[in-house]
Amino acid sequence: MNEKEKLEWQKENEERRKNNENYFEVLSLAKKEQKQEHTAPTDCFLSCQHINKIYSNRIQAVTDFSLDVKDGEFIVLVGPSGCGKSTTLRMIAGLEDITSGDLYIDGKYANKLEPKERHVAMVFQSYALYPHMSVYENMAFGLKGSKEAVEVDGHIEMRRLTREEIDGRIQAAAKALQITEYLNRKPTQLSGGQCQRVALGRAYVRNAKVFLLDEPLSNLDAKLRIQMRSELVRLHDDLKNTMIYVTHDQTEAMTMADRIVILKLGKIQQIGTPIEVYDHPANLFVATFIGSPTTNVIEALYRNGKISLGDSQITLSPEQQEKIEAFYPAEIEAHKAHLAKLEAEPRYKDKKQTKLAKSYQKELVREKELIQAFETLNGKEEKPILFGIRPENLSSISDSKRLSDPLKVKIEAAELLGADYYLHFSLQEKDWCAKVPADRLYHIGDEVVLKMDLEKIHLFDTITEKSIF
Ligand code: ADP
Repeated sequence: MNEKEKLEWQKENEERRKNNENYFEVLSLAKKEQKQEHTAPTDCFLSCQHINKIYSNRIQAVTDFSLDVKDGEFIVLVGPSGCGKSTTLRMIAGLEDITSGDLYIDGKYANKLEPKERHVAMVFQSYALYPHMSVYENMAFGLKGSKEAVEVDGHIEMRRLTREEIDGRIQAAAKALQITEYLNRKPTQLSGGQCQRVALGRAYVRNAKVFLLDEPLSNLDAKLRIQMRSELVRLHDDLKNTMIYVTHDQTEAMTMADRIVILKLGKIQQIGTPIEVYDHPANLFVATFIGSPTTNVIEALYRNGKISLGDSQITLSPEQQEKIEAFYPAEIEAHKAHLAKLEAEPRYKDKKQTKLAKSYQKELVREKELIQAFETLNGKEEKPILFGIRPENLSSISDSKRLSDPLKVKIEAAELLGADYYLHFSLQEKDWCAKVPADRLYHIGDEVVLKMDLEKIHLFDTITEKSIF
C-alpha cells in the first residue's frame, strides 16, 4: 500500500466509522419514535420532521431533514450530486423507508403508508411514456386494474375504477393540460413539451395531491430546457398542485421555485425564497452554489471596523460593523446553550448504550472545541474572515452610494455575453469575476478599474463558514 492509498483508506475508514456512529444514534431515535403519538401539523400540507435516512450499507444519505410545505407550493430541492435529493424525494413517495423522523401528508402520518395511499405521483427524467401506446392509453395505464380508495355511501371502499371514471379523469386532465387534441397520438409524435404534459397528466389522473419531479428537464437541450422551465411554472400556476422538484441546477431552482431547499452532504443548508437565498446566503456554500458566475471569495482580515484585502482597505458601515461585533458573542452563547442541552441529555449518561454515549461524547467535545475557537477569535483584535462579493456588485460604473476605493486589475479573460461582459482577473492569487456592462470593448491584458458596492458585500466566519452578513 503506497502513501496515497493509505491516506484514502484512512479517510474511508474514518467515514465508515462516522457513519456507524450515526447509525446507532438514528436507530435509537427511530425506536423512541415508534412509541410516540404522531399528530399531524395543521398549518402545512406536507411536513418532514427530523428525517434521517441510512441505507443498509450504513451510508447516511439524509440527516435531520425538516421542511413544512404549504398546499400548492412549488419547492425545489437543489444541491450537488450525492447530497440526498433523490433519497428525500423517494422517501416522500414511499419508495424508500424512512429510517427515523416523521412524514405527514395531507393531515396523515405517512411513514407507514403504501405509495398508493399517499396521493403522490413521481414524474421522472425520461417521462417514462410507453412509445407504442397513445397518449390516452399512457394516461389510462396506471389506472386500469389498480384499486383506489373510493367513497361509497359515506364510507371508504377499495375498488377498481370504472371505465367511465377513468375516461372522466383523463378528459379532465387533458383539458387542464391542454392536450385534448393529442390524446390519440403516440408519444413519438409529440414535442418534448407535450411529452412533459402527458407525464404530468399521468400524475394528475391519479388524483395526486403532490407531484414529485426528479430532474425532469436534465436530458433536454439547453433551449428546450429554458422553454420547459417556464412551461412548468405556468402549469403549476394552472394546476395549483403541490410540487417538489429535484435538480442539481441552481438556475432551475432560482427560476422556478416558490422556495428553495439547498442541500449539502444530506444536510439542509438553507430554506428560502430565491431572492432570500441569493441576497442573504446562510453560509459560504450557499453563497457560492447559488448564482452564476459564483460569488468571489477571498481571505481577509477584520480590525476595528475595517476589512483589509491585501493592500486595500474597506470601511464597514455602522450597521455592518455592529453585525460582525455581535456575531462572535452570539455564536459563543448559542454553542454554550447547545452544550448545556447536550449535557442535560439523560441518554448521554446511559451506561448501557455505550455506542450512543460515545457519539454524544464526540458531539460534546466538538461543541467545546467550537466554543473555544470562537472565544479565542472573539478575544483577538484582528480576526481572519472570508470576504465575498458577487460579480455584478463589482463594477466599473455604479450609482451606488457606498463604493470601495478603486481596484486596479488586469483582465485575464473577457467574455462578451451581449449586454454584459464577464471580466476574469486574479486577486491575491484567487480567480475573480466581475460582471460589467458591455459599453466598451475589453481585451485580455487591459488594466481596468473596478469598484465594489459596499452595501452588497458578504462576510463569512472562518470557523464554521456561517454568514455574518
Ligand atoms: P442526489 O439525488 O442528491 O444525487 P442521492 O439521494 O441519490 O443523491 O444519494 C445520496 C447518497 O446516498 C449518496 O452518497 C449515494 O451514494 C447514497 N445512496 C443512494 N442510493 C443508495 C442505495 N440504494 N444504497 C446505498 N447508498 C445509496
